[in-house]
Amino acid sequence: MSTFLGMPATAPRGVGHLRGDQTFPRAAHDALGNSQLRRNLRHATTTIRGKSGKVIAELPDWQELRDAGSAIKADVMARLPELLEELEARVTEAGGVVHWAADANEANEIVTRLVRETGSSRVIKVKSMATQEIGLNEALEEAGITPVETDLAELIVQLGDDKPSHILVPAIHRNRSEIREIFLRAMPGVDPALTDDPPVLAAAARRYLRETFLSTEVAVSGANFAIAATGTLGVVESEGNGRMCLTLPDTLITVMGIEKVLPTWRDLEVFLQLLPRASTGERMNPYTTMWTGVTPGDGPQNFHLVLLDNGRSAVLADTAGRQALHCIRCSACLNVCPVYERTGGHSYGSVYPGPIGAVLSPQLTGVADNASLPYASSLCGACFDACPVKIDIPSLLVHLRNQVPHPPAERAAMAAAAYTMARPRLYANAQRAAKLARIAGRRGRGLPPPFSGWTAGRDLPEFPSQTFRDWWAER
Ligand code: SF4
Repeated sequence: MSTFLGMPATAPRGVGHLRGDQTFPRAAHDALGNSQLRRNLRHATTTIRGKSGKVIAELPDWQELRDAGSAIKADVMARLPELLEELEARVTEAGGVVHWAADANEANEIVTRLVRETGSSRVIKVKSMATQEIGLNEALEEAGITPVETDLAELIVQLGDDKPSHILVPAIHRNRSEIREIFLRAMPGVDPALTDDPPVLAAAARRYLRETFLSTEVAVSGANFAIAATGTLGVVESEGNGRMCLTLPDTLITVMGIEKVLPTWRDLEVFLQLLPRASTGERMNPYTTMWTGVTPGDGPQNFHLVLLDNGRSAVLADTAGRQALHCIRCSACLNVCPVYERTGGHSYGSVYPGPIGAVLSPQLTGVADNASLPYASSLCGACFDACPVKIDIPSLLVHLRNQVPHPPAERAAMAAAAYTMARPRLYANAQRAAKLARIAGRRGRGLPPPFSGWTAGRDLPEFPSQTFRDWWAER
């Protein structure tokens, strides 16, 4: 198959999970009213942050590792087409089949066709952000195929008919009593005497999943990394359920974002040190499963790799914005973000929440479709400090804010301010007139329309009783 990345095009509308139904401020406003959600989030993010900080402090060369990770990713982006062609050639040589999907629609069609060709009506799934991004579960269900998530947190989300709200811990917004209720309501064959003790809940999920593993012949996975030099794919995870999916079924279909490719195994060494410490606070992730094509008599006998674009070429075309593609989905930026900790992942409306979501989603969909996300940040910079591959998220946010279509009232106000500030006499008069604003909008009350949008999320500052110019003139 010839390789063609296609012209840069954004992810299509109406499919997948990159756009929310509401703007970020609207959704965040609702989320902030949910005190249980905030308690769950604070507890979870504080715990992960503490664990991660401790194991990172053990490494004297953490900063050098971050530099190395950043440099490798920059190199990958600079020669992505060449590396992908190399990957395609090696996977094909090893007995796999490579498919190129320009967008979510194409990827869903390819996977659905491949599953249909096996004659199966059920697939088991390894946790995968790429398949959530394209809405694969919905596409499979529409085609009469049942997808079963096998990552525990993903399973909770799926059974609860819910949406993930964290990259690493998709059910972070749920506590154990909520999980018990979900299991009792939706898990086939669950013991009605189930308690909310975590080991009991885990055992119930294990029983259900074990039966599913042993009776399902097709698996769908994502990939954390792909090695171009050998055509090897890799998934890292904590539970071992992923490894069951990757080894037991007869057919394995992997959907991978094109940015996940790495040149060589040597490069992987850097990321296998960075990822677990930054994400789960472990020195090494418990399960690393790597596979190359097919091996007769061992593991899946049919392997398909779907290389997904879905807006990534468009991101790559922006030399400043393309840094967002360096992301290794560790979720460290979410765990340190004061905005994420209070609003939760659903407010971002995309499968990619938190600081990385605020820069990646608008680029994949086109900024106009996610115009409020670049503002979903206090620009405090904690995400930049935490990112193991040094993505400068605050600068990216500012870069994207400059591309957001601004409302006509705001544009007019800014043009008027620029005109006034360029004329000292006019500016002095305006400063005096600004005192009137104290009458129009007292602290805590906000400004009247059309400026009310600005004060909806901010306190109106107190104006001093005397301007600097007046004070100076009196001296
Ligand atoms: S942007 Fe950085 S910190 Fe955030 S998920 Fe991606 S790699 Fe991790």
